[in-house]
Amino acid sequence: MRSYSICLLPGDGIGPEIIAEGCKVLDAVGAKYGVEFRYEEALLGGCAIDATGTAFPETTLEAAQRADAVLLAAVGGPKWDTTDPTKPRPEQGLLGIRKALGLYTNLRPVQIFAALADASTLKPEVVDGVDLMIVRELTGGLYFGARERFYDEAGAGTDGAAGQRAYDTLEYREYEVERIARQAFEAARKRRGRVHSIDKANVLETSRMWREVVHRVHDEEFPEVELFDMLVDNAAMQLINRPADFDVVVTENMFGDILSDEAAQITGSLGMLASASLGDGTALYEPSHGSAPDIAGQGIANPLAQILSVEMMLRYSFALDAAADDIRRAVTAVLDEGWRTGDIADVATPAERIVGTAAMGDLVVAHL
Ligand code: NAD
Repeated sequence: MRSYSICLLPGDGIGPEIIAEGCKVLDAVGAKYGVEFRYEEALLGGCAIDATGTAFPETTLEAAQRADAVLLAAVGGPKWDTTDPTKPRPEQGLLGIRKALGLYTNLRPVQIFAALADASTLKPEVVDGVDLMIVRELTGGLYFGARERFYDEAGAGTDGAAGQRAYDTLEYREYEVERIARQAFEAARKRRGRVHSIDKANVLETSRMWREVVHRVHDEEFPEVELFDMLVDNAAMQLINRPADFDVVVTENMFGDILSDEAAQITGSLGMLASASLGDGTALYEPSHGSAPDIAGQGIANPLAQILSVEMMLRYSFALDAAADDIRRAVTAVLDEGWRTGDIADVATPAERIVGTAAMGDLVVAHL
């Protein structure tokens, strides 16, 4: 029997409630496909601060490193909010683990489940068939380059007076572009075989290098994938103009940050979006939403983004595509039958079809 170890990071807020449903689904597909999943739980975020004084304890890094995959729920909450730079913050756990595991690729799928098409702010005929994947470079570019803010005695203020100056540096190395391009083409091979590479090659030197490298990797290794270049300003328009035309979208860190939030908004439902972070070390899977402290402990959180992050884990870490397809089919069937958690219910949803976290997990399992 194949056996995999999963490092579980329930984190804070609704985290423990939704991750339990992710494990329920993993156990069910494991039983069906003859695969065993073993779990080791570790602390990250606010709960880690409470227990150890730091958001990312060394023991958590070790647990993540020895696992075959990491399943994270969410971290953070008002209890740990502080503006005091000397105090630990839950997000340090999140950024810390991504960096420590060398997770340079963020995959964020954006799909419209037909039953939820009304949740989008776009017209139904525009969102019909939307199924795209943003592949965002996660550890390079503007967010990691040299930056500085300083006071310039000569010329930075009005009329040549003294004033502030600041700069951020956007730098990429060839290997960073190569490896993210490969991830995008590999994702496209498992999907509809189309990649849009987004850049600003009409202005930025990094973008011109990006474009050249992406084309080289394409021509040498993935010639069967269709490749399109698109400038980022045009991409921002086309994503809401004709979102169903996109399959895989690959882009650098900051463009990806902005475009992935824009694309997520196409679906209109935060509780449905999963993500995967891949790289050198153990891959990490998590919902796109936060720890929802406003509804924590009530058993009403939507576990589907967590369950869909389990789907991604099966696909990307374990190549269990049939099992992943099963999860997607099960989630689609549950929604088609009209079952909703509160966040995705609307005025037309009958009260008896609105269910809690555990019941939603049970429904998905029943359809597997
Ligand atoms: P949030 O995503 O936690 O919540 C935004 C709204 O969406 C809330 O009304 C919440 O109830 C609702 N919501 C989110 N997920 C839901 C779900 N699965 N089911 C039903 N409703 C859901 O964002 P926020 O309120 O801005 O942040 C809350 C905390 O989460 C903060 O401490 C923030 O730093 C943290 N956060 C963590 C992550 C992460 O762990 N990756 C991401 C974003 C925010």
